[in-house]
Amino acid sequence: MKRKILVLEDETNIRSFVVLNLKRAGYEVIEAGSGEEALEKYSIHPDIAVAVLDVMLPGMDGYEVCRTLRTQGYAAGVIMLTARVQETDKVTGLMTGADDYVTKPFSVVELVARVDALYRRVSGRPFGDEDSIHSGPFKLNLRAREVQKNGVKVDLTQIEYGILKAFLQNIGKALSRDDLLEMVWGHHYVGELKIVDVNIRRLRIKIEDDPANPRYIMTVRGFGYMWEE
Ligand code: CA
Repeated sequence: MKRKILVLEDETNIRSFVVLNLKRAGYEVIEAGSGEEALEKYSIHPDIAVAVLDVMLPGMDGYEVCRTLRTQGYAAGVIMLTARVQETDKVTGLMTGADDYVTKPFSVVELVARVDALYRRVSGRPFGDEDSIHSGPFKLNLRAREVQKNGVKVDLTQIEYGILKAFLQNIGKALSRDDLLEMVWGHHYVGELKIVDVNIRRLRIKIEDDPANPRYIMTVRGFGYMWEE
């Protein structure tokens, strides 16, 4: 099976370098030099497993590309390449539907490690004995990697799905940010714990009746989070 990665970067020297290293790591790499081209490539290759999107582009920016991909039903991995370091920008990126971000200037080794980790998360894993897990109005289908609330499908990214699965497999148990990072992003993840909080915030918006007063994903102060049945 081809492991397809999309790399969107307008600076050709950076793009060639990233592409070269991803190819060496065993990926088939689809290249794009603009947001518009990236969306066009996605329509030709809907089986892209991870998209690496530069934020700063002429025309449509990387956030816009990410939002559009998600709107078009792209549920696999997104890593944003950002030159900006402010926390608000990282949050903006993640809120538009990205799963991870790498700040420029980045080490290509780190970028490939992030792509590997995300690829492992989104490419699906062997399923267990049970097909589904139920909790309150939620039903998580392990085969389809799909979540329903009151019988209605909830649109989740693969990372959000991973978090929900970690919770439903540990109902009533407090999970630390480190626990979640390891369960969802994997052992090799080298990023910040902050990414857990940002994804939880996004997940609450999607699944809670009142995201400001969560009923299911409870905060365990100074520790992490817990799923309340
Ligand atoms: Ca750029």
